[in-house]
Amino acid sequence: MSHDLHQLGVAALAAKLRAKEVSATEAAGHFLKRARTIDAAGRTAATLSAQPVHDAWGAFLSIDEDATLAQARAADARIADGDAGPLVGVPIAHKDVFVTRDFPTTAGSKMLAGYRSPFDATVVARLADAGCVTLGKTSCDELAMGSSNENCAYGPVHNPWDTARVPGGSSGGSAAAVAARLAPAATGTDTGGSIRQPAAFCGITGIKPTYGRASRYGMIAYGSSLDQAGVMAPSAEDCALLLSALCGPDVARDSTSLDVPPEDYSRALGDALAGLRIGIPKEFFGEGLGADVRAAIDAALKEYEKLGATLVPISLPRTELAIPVYYVIAPAEASSNLSRFDGVKFGHRASKYTDLVDMYKKTRAEGFGDEVKRRIMVGTYVLSHGYYDAYYLQAQKIRRMIADDFQQAFAQCDVIAGPVAPTVAWKLGEKADDPVANYLADIFTLPASLAGLPGLSLPCGFGAGDMPVGLQLIGNYFGEAKLLNAAHRFQQATDWHMKKPAGI
Ligand code: GLN
Repeated sequence: MSHDLHQLGVAALAAKLRAKEVSATEAAGHFLKRARTIDAAGRTAATLSAQPVHDAWGAFLSIDEDATLAQARAADARIADGDAGPLVGVPIAHKDVFVTRDFPTTAGSKMLAGYRSPFDATVVARLADAGCVTLGKTSCDELAMGSSNENCAYGPVHNPWDTARVPGGSSGGSAAAVAARLAPAATGTDTGGSIRQPAAFCGITGIKPTYGRASRYGMIAYGSSLDQAGVMAPSAEDCALLLSALCGPDVARDSTSLDVPPEDYSRALGDALAGLRIGIPKEFFGEGLGADVRAAIDAALKEYEKLGATLVPISLPRTELAIPVYYVIAPAEASSNLSRFDGVKFGHRASKYTDLVDMYKKTRAEGFGDEVKRRIMVGTYVLSHGYYDAYYLQAQKIRRMIADDFQQAFAQCDVIAGPVAPTVAWKLGEKADDPVANYLADIFTLPASLAGLPGLSLPCGFGAGDMPVGLQLIGNYFGEAKLLNAAHRFQQATDWHMKKPAGI
């Protein structure tokens, strides 16, 4: 039985665990073995990696079989004790920006090489309390800055659909691990699209909840007013199960955590879509959108009409401004957050230096990669005396207008739909030397991030190079259950989310 465990989604695997048809130890062992032995073409990650590569796609940055199996045995003991929680024994991979006691945490940066946290991030702890077993830590762009996973200091991740292409970013390792079925699910973080875009590029489902719904405690900070944790899995049903455990207040440890009780996001999965008003923002369907992506999105919207939804034309007039606004605010916050990496308290310290200031300089020059340095410089500049008003303050004002535009739109519709990204996953190296080209590709995910709204990506077809296309659904604040329901009904009527890369 256990040879095809990876073909099951979270919900089906959890049911088997509860029925004691398979043990948590067997399930964890199955996925670990898969990560170790599955091979694919284009194994170039190994040559760039400072650490051993654990799987053919470079999806994992660390695996520790003993730690995983110890967690799995504890889950089996809970099942034996009659603990029938919906997630007990389900293996999960965590993005390497969540600190973990049992595994190293690098956030894809040399700065944190060899770092081990004395505690678990709240998201990790909440999922562990629910009985999830950690399979390992997944690769990401350094400190979550990027859209292709190519900014990881330990080498790129290969997209399981085409190993010559990027998996998206910054949660590229999580997306690739789920797409290659090396893990039934994974956590991710989304500051400007880092769950939704890699989910779209790898043909899986991913959701970022309302800002403040998931705790940021123990999540290595990038842009604190934007950072939000979420989950990635084959289906919306799987995501609903995981998100219910992951979200919840943590006000004592995260000052922006919302004091709202956890919800059961699976509760609305059966609701019919009749009468659902789906807003279609015209700015998401302009010139920059690839014809291949557009065709897949249009077909998905037709499917929604068949399911009883009505399409309502809406406008989000400041969509284009989301790029400059985000790329002022996120670096500004990053430049402040990253000042904690000084060689004194955490991780890397230069081995040769003359005095304290020289130690800071050399440590940061050695520890951070190019993109992180670029963001620190931009962020420091826009916050500096004389430029603060012109850039940072101005960006904050437009951010507010972007949030207001969404509220006007939600007066006319229940959810908003559009593409996740203008194109399918691009080739490794194609945009590696062009940071602005990477930034522009974030256009459709940044607006919801700036407004703090929940967003979901679900597979809805294929575009150029037979690569997956993702449909984005954006909800109003606390609209996660509605998004998951809308995605689930689509997935009951179609089978795009069941498609897997060849050989998987
Ligand atoms: N691509 C965006 C950036 O580079 C978003 C990253 C993210 O959401 N962490 O900042």
